[in-house]
Order: sequence, then structure tokens, then C-alpha cells
Amino acid sequence: MKLYNSLTKKVEDFKTNEPGKVSMYTCGPTVYHFAHIGNLRSYICEDVLEKLLRFGGYDVKRVMNITDVGHLSSDADTGEDKMLKGARREHKTVMEIAKFYTDAFFSDCNKLNIKMPDVVEPATNCIPEFINMIEGLLEKGYAYKAGDNIYFDTSRLVNYYVFGNQNEDELMVGARDDVTEDTNKRNKNDFVLWFTRSKFEDQALKWDSPWGVGYPGWHIECSCISMKHLGEKLDLHCGGVDNMFPHHTNEIAQSESFIGHKWCNYWFHVHHLNDETGKMSKSKGEFLTVSLLEKKGYDPLAYRLFVLQSHYRKPLTFSFAILDQADATYKKLKSRIAPVEEEGAVDEGAVKEWHDKFLEAVGDDCNTAMGLTLLYDVLKSELNGATKRKVIEDYDYVLSLDLLKTEEEAGVDEELKKYVEAKIAERAEAKKAKDFEKADAIRDELAGKGIVIKDTREGAVWSRA
Ligand SMILES: [Zn+2]
Repeated sequence: MKLYNSLTKKVEDFKTNEPGKVSMYTCGPTVYHFAHIGNLRSYICEDVLEKLLRFGGYDVKRVMNITDVGHLSSDADTGEDKMLKGARREHKTVMEIAKFYTDAFFSDCNKLNIKMPDVVEPATNCIPEFINMIEGLLEKGYAYKAGDNIYFDTSRLVNYYVFGNQNEDELMVGARDDVTEDTNKRNKNDFVLWFTRSKFEDQALKWDSPWGVGYPGWHIECSCISMKHLGEKLDLHCGGVDNMFPHHTNEIAQSESFIGHKWCNYWFHVHHLNDETGKMSKSKGEFLTVSLLEKKGYDPLAYRLFVLQSHYRKPLTFSFAILDQADATYKKLKSRIAPVEEEGAVDEGAVKEWHDKFLEAVGDDCNTAMGLTLLYDVLKSELNGATKRKVIEDYDYVLSLDLLKTEEEAGVDEELKKYVEAKIAERAEAKKAKDFEKADAIRDELAGKGIVIKDTREGAVWSRA
């Protein structure tokens, strides 16, 4: 497989630390609002990448954080606390907001056939790990205390701008977004590891630390959560291109200072989704969510197809007119596949051959558009019906467009969802009543139907196995 690496700015052969195994980390959502479809573009592309690696025979372990504390409205530690902002807006507690939007995020992912990562970890689960890393950084002289906060000292690093392509303007993120300048910082790009003097009087979530009661900065969580589950050598780190600076730059700075060697080998960044007026954001124009697409009558998988039609390293422009085209293409594609009958014997040799073609084409830096082209080639080919269906099934593991699902089966989905959610509620009740036998029985019953439940701090979430 070949992959573009933001660190070297080159397409490289993908080599893992351990043969056959991939450790993969994804920056998860800050759960203070719905994800807009631009955020979800990244998660779709990362989902394809994970599945492609598995398709190519790798054993992948993928970890994702949920940011439920510490992310301020500017990525450079200034402005308001995003979680508090959400809580205030909706007159709920921060934990209620976190639970609601975590569930909403995974429900959107489920609709877009985005697989659940193997480990999902909320930041608030890992406070001891954050404190441990910050203590280490202080001991090694990479961090300092000022104004009762702990900061990372970027001047200690020879090579701080690891992605190397930012100019001074782009490095001014904080200054650009906010008028407030943090005068405790010794260097412009120093960042907060731990806030002890909360700027917010009603800060809901705070913890004891060696430096006083407070809460962690945003960047520290990804380094710690990644190391907690994937160790000190990471193969692959993913995120949106807007995470490159300061977030990923700071993750690298603190991780490598802490462990004393290289941390992550490959960085995968998905580019922006723009609307016709420019970069999509939550604050301007119509707030484009999966639910809105559904309300307007679109199948969320038509949006997935729209994303797969273009390359993840190119900015993509969204409009409803373009989505209409993708929707029509999706319907046409499914109507071409539906009549392919299960006839003849499956030609396993041909299945393998087409599998390898897909791996070669899409494995060249996640070229999903080529995968779609190959799908049409399969349909046009001389293969018998049974073999075609087998190849389509194989491709659909990566594309995840429900290509073989009939409309009736798609209709069952809503039923299935209701059923699973009722079972999850029943299980939560059983657990509350300490009837663990019953709770386990419900989990096993769902597993028998191919539904996997994962317990998170915010409650159980589910996905298809
Ligand atoms: Zn992150």
C-alpha cells in the first residue's frame, strides 16, 4: 500500500512497526454540538482507510478519543470552553451535553456506515494519564508553570513546526481568532497542558492535580489516549487538515519530548469540505448535518458516495445540486446491481484477481474514485452473476455503500434500530438493578444478530459487527 504522509509530504510505501499489524489513532469529535457533514467527510475517509488496511490483510487496532473537556473555542487555548458553551446554550449539564452529542455522533456514523473504532475513550476517563505525562514533561524541562497554569515550552524544541509548511500567518491561529492574548506564555506557540486557574467561574469539570484543582488542555489528551492503548510507537495518525496546526504539531511536540524518540510514522489528513461560500463551519449558513440531509429526503449513503467520488487530499465543494447528482448516481448504481442474479458457481480465482486489482488501485493513496471505477468494470465484465455478487460484496466491505442491500432490507433498518435501542435500554435497566446475568444475556442476544455493543462512559453505543 502507498500513502501520502504529511510529515514527509510524499507518497510513501506503507510500512508498519510490527509486520501485519497497524496501530491507528483518530482524533475524535468535541461533543458540544452535532457534527456537520464537513467533519464527517474526514471520518468517512478514515473509515475507508481503516477498512482498506483490513482488506489488504492487516490486523488493525484503531483508537479514537472523545473530547468532553478542555477544548476551547480557539484551538490555541483562548476563548470559551466549547463544552460549557454547549451546556449553556441548551440549559443542560456538561455531562448531559457530552452524552447527547456522543450518541448523536455515533448515530450519524452508523447512518454513514462508518465503523466504530476498536477503542473509544472520552478524555475525562484519562485524567491520571494526562497528569503523568505533564509531570514527565515538567521533570524533563519541557514544561513550565506560569500564572498557575502549566505550559509546554516550544522553544525547547529544535524542530517544532514538524509539518513544515506553515507560514507565520498560519501559526497565528490564536491571535487571529481572539483578541485575548495569554501573557503567561513565554513563546507565542506555547500551549496549555493544564489549566489550574480556570477562566470560567462555573467550570463544571475539574480535578485535583499536583498543581491545584483544574482541567487539562486539549492537545494532551490525544497523546495520552493514543499511548494508553497503542503504546509509544504509533503507525498511523489521522485527522482533518485543520488539525495539523496547532493540534497535531502540539501532539508531536509533547509526545516525543515525553518518550524521547519518534512517535508516529504516518500522518493522514483529510481536506476540507467547502460550501459555495467557502469553508464549512457550524456558525455560518445552514447547519449541514446528516439529519438535515435525511429531512430533505437524501439517503446518507448518497453523501458517502459523493465523498468517495473525490480524493481525500483535495478540497471538495458541497451543494445540494451536486448531492442530487451523487444521489442519482447512487440510485442508478444500485438499480444496476439489483438484477445481478446469484447464478453459476463462484469463480474464486476471479474473485481473488479482482480483489488484488482493487487493492492495487485504491491502495495507491486511498484512491476511492478508482475503486468506484473498478466496481463499474465488474458490472460490465463477463463474470457470471454469482462471481459478480461476490466481488461486489468484497468491494463493499471498503466502500460500505450497502450495494447488495435491497430496498426492502434497507427499510428493515429503521425497525432494527428501534429494536436494538429498546434492547440497550432494557440492558441498562438490568445493569442498574445489578442483574448482570440478564444484561449479559441481552448483549449475547444482540451479538447473535451481528450487533456489537460498546460501553462508553456516556452509555452503550452499537454498531454492526
Ligand atoms: Zn487529536
